[in-house]
Amino acid sequence: MEWRGKTIKDTIAFEGVGIHTGEIAKIKVHPSDKKGIFFYKNGLKIPAHHKFVVNTLASTDLGLNGVSIRTVEHLMAAFYLLGIDSAVVEVEKGSEIPIADGGSKTFVEAFKEVGLVELPHRQTIFTIKEYFRIQPNGNYVEVEPYEGELFTFEGIFPKVGRRSATYRGEIEEALIGARTFCDVEDVVHLWLCSFGLGGYAVNTLPLTENLEFLVYSSEPAYHKLLDLIGDLALLGGRVVGKIYSFKGNHRLNHQLRDYILKSEKVKKLNLQLKEFSQA
Ligand code: ZN
Repeated sequence: MEWRGKTIKDTIAFEGVGIHTGEIAKIKVHPSDKKGIFFYKNGLKIPAHHKFVVNTLASTDLGLNGVSIRTVEHLMAAFYLLGIDSAVVEVEKGSEIPIADGGSKTFVEAFKEVGLVELPHRQTIFTIKEYFRIQPNGNYVEVEPYEGELFTFEGIFPKVGRRSATYRGEIEEALIGARTFCDVEDVVHLWLCSFGLGGYAVNTLPLTENLEFLVYSSEPAYHKLLDLIGDLALLGGRVVGKIYSFKGNHRLNHQLRDYILKSEKVKKLNLQLKEFSQA
């Protein structure tokens, strides 16, 4: 399987509240012909790569020299789903990516509307060659060879129960539109922890007894699948293989990336890690 590099045709701006900080954030996504996604804040360049992940609690945050950019996963998922591997994200205001619709729909639609353009370089590909399993505690991820992309998330959600969602290399409405969720009884807890300050019904799905807020019956599972895809995008390439995540989270996704980058069970093609290490 081979993917050519891809970027967007023109600059797009996004402005809105950040889910965790509650601050208005403003970003601009620019086209780039250089392989890799790079974030810029206050003149500092932070590569969208595993090595620059500084937090995985409730969101995936990138950072360098004390400067951090929070909640990059939904934007990264939009890049991954559209095959965009080259772009520059300028964080003009705030320190978090706007939560927008709570999923990746706003980003995906904006990128599709502005148009995509192919680049001459080959994308980085991580091909799973042998089965492996990572099981930290209670949750786990199983990975095995597969000709294509087949990623599944399964979880047991408060009030909702057991749900699963699968990505088969195709963009689905349920996937990009699945919102961030929280257990309503957990909102106070989230606020106390200073997470979720920008959470409103429009971008956050409250898990309640009667499930009236669910747009899709498996919405929370789709959202966790979206998080997984956004987190995998921080490998700096695509994954060819079958991934099954049971009750995974950003922390487990971080361990998965670490394994993929280091393990001999994964074949790496067209790596450009040097560029990612130049911050
Ligand atoms: Zn998320």
